[in-house]
Amino acid sequence: MRKPAILGGKPVRKTFLPFAKPFIGEEEKKAVMEVLESGWISLGPKNREFEEKLANYLKVRHVIVVNSCTAGLFLSLKLLEVKPGDEVIIPTYTFCASANVVEHLGAKPVFVDVEPNTMLIDTEKIEEAITDKTKAIMPVHFAGQPADLDKILRIAKEYQIDVVEDAAHAIGAEFDGKKIGNFGLTTSFSFYAIKNMTTGDGGAIATNNDEVAERLRILRLHGMDKDAWKRYSAKGSWFYDVLDAGYKMNLTDIQAALGIVQLSRLETFIKRRRKLAKYYIELLGELDFIELPIEKPKRKHVFHLFTIFLKEDKLRINRDKFIEALRAENIGTSVHFIPVHTFTYYRIKYGYKPGDFPVAWEYYNREISLPLFNGMKECEVEDVAKAMEKIGEWYKR
Ligand SMILES: *Cc1c(COP(=O)(O)O)cnc(C)c1O
Repeated sequence: MRKPAILGGKPVRKTFLPFAKPFIGEEEKKAVMEVLESGWISLGPKNREFEEKLANYLKVRHVIVVNSCTAGLFLSLKLLEVKPGDEVIIPTYTFCASANVVEHLGAKPVFVDVEPNTMLIDTEKIEEAITDKTKAIMPVHFAGQPADLDKILRIAKEYQIDVVEDAAHAIGAEFDGKKIGNFGLTTSFSFYAIKNMTTGDGGAIATNNDEVAERLRILRLHGMDKDAWKRYSAKGSWFYDVLDAGYKMNLTDIQAALGIVQLSRLETFIKRRRKLAKYYIELLGELDFIELPIEKPKRKHVFHLFTIFLKEDKLRINRDKFIEALRAENIGTSVHFIPVHTFTYYRIKYGYKPGDFPVAWEYYNREISLPLFNGMKECEVEDVAKAMEKIGEWYKR
């Protein structure tokens, strides 16, 4: 048996393999330089072009680009006039932003537990969380796999509440053969640095509702009825009206130009991620101390994350120690997610205990997100698998 690097053995890799990193090619650099030299760097023609291309790709009527997915989720709830006293249903297994935006509006995030393994909102538990104050359900397409939108839309219709999707992980993912973006009232995507495609920071809201799209455009930029491009370009006029106390949540043309190139690569990125995930499953399939991620029927999973769960009864070390051991082998990892109800702010404000959502809590304690990124090579997946096997062998119970 080979000695783990954490105990002084030779590490599997000489150089550090990060958990994630963006793929930026020459075309992206060229596109950004062109905008910088064009004299128009904030919201303008590249925003329009990016929105049109995203709408075409997603096959939706409207896309409104914003400065983050968080902004997209916030504006979606603002649009629904979510206010103090209202409630929004959210899986606790998500990034804190999903819940924070509800707090920003003075409303209450009502957490729901998730299904084992897929970590998607448990649709059996949604109805018991609905009250007469519930305004919306916010499903999270965890790791790039869509939640059960059939069931969620059916419940939402029955109780007359809206569905606002957190698709930060899931651009290009499909449910029942249709791209995410065509189901709920709005769907927000993230273009944060290490998401499946990036603009550095950025996001987009998709909707098939004309009125919603119009409202979102106004809310995104100060409540103005005209953006700067409509005022300062050759055909523009200086006058504008303010229809609402809106926000400053637009994307710049520098970011949009980067996004246009990234979008042109997205299908290649997704193919690559799916292939790497399949290779992981093949290599790790034999290891009896690992629970591998499951792809559910009717879904196209875009593998933003490759999440595994340790079987603690098979190992003498816990997840935290396993991560340290991987780090010593020069393998970077992460954990997704720390359940939101366990964070100090939410725990104190609402009196939650970790075990209140037992599936989220149990799986969180066993989860490791392995390296997976657009430019990752097969040999790097092999290194991760070797390190996993080596550590698992040594610490076998
Ligand atoms: C990344 C992420 C967000 C936030 O996206 P930003 O673009 O950084 O605002 C929201 N929800 C989930 C599940 C995420 O992973």
